[in-house]
Amino acid sequence: MNIHEYQGKEILKSFGVSIQEGIVASTPEQAVEAAKDLQAQTGTGWWVVKAQIHAGGRGKGGGVKLAKSLEEVKEKAEEILGMTLVTHQTGPEGKVVHKVLIAQDVYYPGETDTSEFYMSVLLNRQTGRNIIMYSTEGGMDIEEVADKTPELIFKEEVEPGIGLQAFQARKIAFNLGLSGKAFKEMTKFVTALYNAYVGTDSSMFEINPVLKTSDNLILAVDSKVNLDDNALFRHKDYEAMRDLNEEDPAETEASKSNLNFVKLDGNVGCMVNGAGLAMATMDIIKLSGGEPANFLDVGGGANAETVEAGLKIILNDPNVKAILINIFGGIVRCDRVAQGVVEAYKKIGEINIPIIVRLQGTNAEGGKKIIDESGLKVFSAITLKEASDLVQEIMA
Ligand code: GDP
Ligand code: MN
Repeated sequence: MNIHEYQGKEILKSFGVSIQEGIVASTPEQAVEAAKDLQAQTGTGWWVVKAQIHAGGRGKGGGVKLAKSLEEVKEKAEEILGMTLVTHQTGPEGKVVHKVLIAQDVYYPGETDTSEFYMSVLLNRQTGRNIIMYSTEGGMDIEEVADKTPELIFKEEVEPGIGLQAFQARKIAFNLGLSGKAFKEMTKFVTALYNAYVGTDSSMFEINPVLKTSDNLILAVDSKVNLDDNALFRHKDYEAMRDLNEEDPAETEASKSNLNFVKLDGNVGCMVNGAGLAMATMDIIKLSGGEPANFLDVGGGANAETVEAGLKIILNDPNVKAILINIFGGIVRCDRVAQGVVEAYKKIGEINIPIIVRLQGTNAEGGKKIIDESGLKVFSAITLKEASDLVQEIMA
């Protein structure tokens, strides 16, 4: 699960990571109130208005603006709230901004003695260890740094059973060219950041930029956090951080029915039980000249309700020109699935696209019979070859 910058910063702060302070707002009026409160708390006289969307590159896309007065806070918040922000991570359609973070300006007017670093903590699946990646070249062009000068990105591996060692934190601060107070602050920062990553069961924490201020504080100015879905049950309080605005509505709908659904751009919808079979089915669709419109695994215990929920989600996609249902009757019986398809079809009504149902396994023949006798625009197949021939015929 991804969360917003402001939520990531709240988590960081709770683990003792120093952050650029801020208050979130949903209207320009709230933004001004937030700016006043922040001034009272931190003494700041300048603010940054930051669009809260689940994508990076906001600065370059016009979603991060400096405001030098309360009037400017209002103006910038008006500009940014409601805008469709397009960045290199949103895709061309962009994302609508529903919230802004009003943050204290930590670059301070006129000060030049600041440095922007890059730092992230993630899992190295090859070695089974956590890895801290960091660079002196932080800021908005980190992708270019990784691309053109990868030697400027350092890596520190951490054995998860032992945790981050003090010497490793010092090595990182040293490699970032720090000394004195900033050096000490950086070792504290890295340690707290690592603790936040481990303590939240996250799969990634990325802070870009990590700022060294002119008075030698080390602050998280941005945060990109990915909480591991498989560990969310251990962190019930993070559930409230989920923002459905940021998720594909079809995927949200699917998760309500416990369906594993990923939306794709093709024209042949598919509904399959088992992830492996779903992958194989998508290959079959491609080999038959179609493009999969989605990945959908209805799970082992598919019944009439799950089939109906799955069909509805697929049918909502206007690109879908045909649907291939590929079910292996192991635990579930094929005649039950066939019955489910027919019932769902009748319930939904007005389905104008062909549905190919391939049932194999327990009671496959019985299932085929139910489909064939239903009188609906449903084509049945038993072998994969028959199914793919049908898709080919329909797509031709
Ligand atoms: P991103 O573009 O989505 O990664 O958003 P960031 O939170 O990283 O902000 C983008 C850029 O805005 C940063 O790289 C900074 O250069 C700039 N920025 C962020 N906070 C401040 C601030 O307090 N003062 C000033 N002057 N610039 C800031
Ligand atoms: Mn950033």
